[in-house]
Amino acid sequence: MAVREILLLGNPILRTKCEKVRNFNEPMLRQTIDDLRDTLDDFRATHGFGRGIAAPQIGITQRVIFINIDKPVVLINPEIIKRSRQMMMLWDDCFSFQNILAKLKRHLKITVNYHDEAGKKQILEAVGGLSELLQHENDHVEGILAIDHAIDSKHIILRSEWKKLTANTKQVYQL
Ligand SMILES: [Zn+2]
Repeated sequence: MAVREILLLGNPILRTKCEKVRNFNEPMLRQTIDDLRDTLDDFRATHGFGRGIAAPQIGITQRVIFINIDKPVVLINPEIIKRSRQMMMLWDDCFSFQNILAKLKRHLKITVNYHDEAGKKQILEAVGGLSELLQHENDHVEGILAIDHAIDSKHIILRSEWKKLTANTKQVYQL
C-alpha cells in the first residue's frame, strides 16, 4: 500500500506510449493496482474530486487504469473498439495539471475491451460521464493529455477563471 507522487504536466513520462501487460500474475502488477487505488483515494480525500487515474501518472509506463465512479474498476490493456459519431462537449481537468481546464469534445458512447485483474477479458459499454472518463484515462496510456484535445488555445484556462465561467459545475453539452 502506498500513495504515490502524481507526475505533473511537463514530465516526459506522461508523454510515453505505455507497454501492454502480458503477465497477469506478476507481483508488480498487483503493486501497481494497489498504488493506483491508494493514490486515487488520497487525491479524492484531499481535493474532493477525482474519478480515475492511469499508471503513467504514478510513473509506471504500463497500460493500466483505475476508475472509481460508483465502484472501483481496474482496466488492463484497455482498447476502445467502438466510438459513437455523436459527441459531447465538456471542460476536462486532470490530476497532472490540477489548475488548468480544457474545453474539448469526446464521444458520447464508447465500447471498451480490457482485461480485469485476473487477466480475464471484459467488455464495457460506457455513456456520458463514464465514457468521457474512460477516453481521458485511455489517452494517458497513449501519452495523450486532455489539453491536446482543446477545441482551440483560447479554451485552455485556469481553474479560478473556469469557476467564474461555470459556477463550479462540470458542464457537459451534448452535440
Ligand atoms: Zn488525467
